[in-house]
Amino acid sequence: AILRDPEFILGAAEPHQFPKDELVEVAFAGRSNVGKSSAINAICNRRKLARTSKQPGRTQQINFFTMGESARLVDLPGYGFAQVPLSVKKKWEITIQEYLAKRDNLIVLVLLMDIRHPLTDLDWQMIKWASEAELPTQILLTKADKYKRGKVASVVLSVEKALKVLPGQFGVEAFSSQSFLGVNAMRAQLDEWVNP
Ligand code: GDP
Repeated sequence: AILRDPEFILGAAEPHQFPKDELVEVAFAGRSNVGKSSAINAICNRRKLARTSKQPGRTQQINFFTMGESARLVDLPGYGFAQVPLSVKKKWEITIQEYLAKRDNLIVLVLLMDIRHPLTDLDWQMIKWASEAELPTQILLTKADKYKRGKVASVVLSVEKALKVLPGQFGVEAFSSQSFLGVNAMRAQLDEWVNP
């Protein structure tokens, strides 16, 4: 499996620090505190691969991890954290945009949204950008353990419906790093994306 022994490669604050783009990359993005680090750790079956943010918004670099020999997993800084100055927020947004715009080896965007408040303005910004860039996007509705099964299914449907207004390849799945809902499905997806 592709996720055997993932390792941290480097953290980059500027595009010139990105590793060479000879391997395909799958990038994880989402609002700060959405559960992105927990999700990456659950998917990779490692307790502390991605650092969970006790202070949300502090992990502001783009972190690159190995994913087998032929791919990398990329952890983008969480966006939209309220308690940082606008200038800092803008800088992160630019860093994220630069990564997304410049990486020819980026094959899939995994966009995480809290199932209790999906599709915020910044999420839409990412989704519209991915649609325009024709970048296949997998949406994970995180913390699904907070809702009962019926409610989870209805939010998945409503997000799928909302995305139909845009052209592009969008998948929507419920996810929980606590109950492990969707974890195996994501591992299988990663394998399929990297080794089609
Ligand atoms: P990040 O800022 O997006 O990397 O989010 P973290 O992974 O650091 O998680 C933010 C907060 O959400 C922490 O308090 C986690 O314990 C909590 N959290 C993360 N994943 C889940 C989940 O699947 N279910 C629940 N109930 N809480 C979660």
